[in-house]
Amino acid sequence: MEQEDWKERYKSLSEEMEVLQVQLDDRSLEHLVCQMAVALDGHSAVLDRALVTLCKQLKTEEKTPPATVQLVEKQLRGLDIEQQRNNNELLQGLHKWVYQLRLNLTTDLSNQRLSGVESSMEPFTGQAAQVSGVVNELVTIQGPLLEDDLNGGRKQAVTLDDLGHNDEEILKQIGSELLIVMTSLNVPQGEMSRARELTRRIEGGITLSSLSTIIQDVVSLVASLSAQNSEDFENYLRNLTGQLAEVQEFVEASQKDEKVSGEAVTLSNDIHQDVQAIQQAVLASKDLNQLKTNVSSQLLNIVKSVDLFKQKEEDREKRLHERYLQMNTRLEQMEEQTQHMKVHVEAERQKAMTDALTSLPNRAGYDERVSAEFDRWTRYNHSFSLAVADLDLFKRINDTYGHQAGDKVLRLISSILSKQCRSTDFVSRYGGEEFVILMPGTSAEQAAMAVDKIRKAVEKSPFNFHGQPVQITLSLGVAEVRKDDSVEALFSRADKALYKAKELGRNRIELG
Ligand code: GH3
Ligand code: MG
Ligand code: MG
Repeated sequence: MEQEDWKERYKSLSEEMEVLQVQLDDRSLEHLVCQMAVALDGHSAVLDRALVTLCKQLKTEEKTPPATVQLVEKQLRGLDIEQQRNNNELLQGLHKWVYQLRLNLTTDLSNQRLSGVESSMEPFTGQAAQVSGVVNELVTIQGPLLEDDLNGGRKQAVTLDDLGHNDEEILKQIGSELLIVMTSLNVPQGEMSRARELTRRIEGGITLSSLSTIIQDVVSLVASLSAQNSEDFENYLRNLTGQLAEVQEFVEASQKDEKVSGEAVTLSNDIHQDVQAIQQAVLASKDLNQLKTNVSSQLLNIVKSVDLFKQKEEDREKRLHERYLQMNTRLEQMEEQTQHMKVHVEAERQKAMTDALTSLPNRAGYDERVSAEFDRWTRYNHSFSLAVADLDLFKRINDTYGHQAGDKVLRLISSILSKQCRSTDFVSRYGGEEFVILMPGTSAEQAAMAVDKIRKAVEKSPFNFHGQPVQITLSLGVAEVRKDDSVEALFSRADKALYKAKELGRNRIELG
């Protein structure tokens, strides 16, 4: 290496010139320029010629023409640029050398020395001392490799020439392809730092020796991501299956009702279609995210259908409830009306069985009661007696004092009968001025004694018409129910006894 540091030389010469220019006369300057021309000779023909011209002009002319100085300056700048280019080429060459050695080195020590050389190249000045030091060291490191090669070598040395331009391109191509793979991966947060580190390594440049490791690492990353993806997918499908099962359950529950509404049928059809769409999406999908989007939208449809169904069912239930409330109100009204009717009917029945003049049970009332008493007698042998009472000579009262007076007598007699009888006795107006008294649990003799009190009470009652006291009396016939009897036979015996009392003079009692 015989590169000369012209720059340094020029700089120092210029400085000397500046100092000496003051001290020396024009001759000295001319001498120095001529010396500089000699020192820089050979770098550039143009510069050589410019320096010669400059020397001549300094010798012959009073003042140096500016054009000559500018030409020299321009040529010197050109030299500077050329020197820079040379330095760069030299540095590149040294780096290639280092790289080639690194590919073939086997010992850590050699690698360390190589790293030392690389450090010593920074900053690169291109000065002979630096360059020679670097070259010497590289030659020393390379020595054992050459020996290996000469001895048949245990390892096939790889050189940059072996790699060749195409191989480097291929490595670069592989690197950019791997970077595309890395950027296309859907990396979860947990794997992010691992992926970033791998990307940095690829971006740092792939060599033959690192290629295998980097590809293995990329494969391992992809494998772990796809494992996670498939786990995600499994979870997702499990979730999906669960959701579909719920939907299925809901639909089946809706259909369990004996009467499936039109809404439930529509819902079932809608959901069936959506589920089919999901199955098709699952079969057709190659991309998990796309599948998720498709399935989510189908599920959304299902949810909408179910919501709509629920809403309609709620409306339907609401309408049913309102109808139920209306029916219930109607039912209550009907019950009330029925109750009212019952009371009314009962009142009417009572009315139908009650005598309007005396308010005592009438003939119909008597018929009902005597029938009940006779049943008790027939079934339970509960004995009873029957008394028929008839006002004596009542026709005369009507004829003498008027019909209204007769009515008044009838009411008064009724009142006495009711008061004189026991609460268990039954007093009725049989017709006209005849009354029938039923006396449960009473023998004929007891009944005769009881009705005799009534007879006496009537006899003693003070009736006054137009200020005149009027004697009212009644006659009674009494009979007790007997074996193989009938209501008609019983009544007939009592009635016969009554007539006997009439015949025997009235105001008396006879047993039949
Ligand atoms: P006897 O002692 O034989 O029974 O004589 P009597 O006059 O009571 O018998 P009769 O059967 O001949 O007459 C019954 C009378 O009772 C005839 C009728 O004018 C009267 N009478 C019947 N029902 C009523 C009534 O509701 N009001 C009035 N004021 N009188 C009636
Ligand atoms: Mg009579
Ligand atoms: Mg009479």
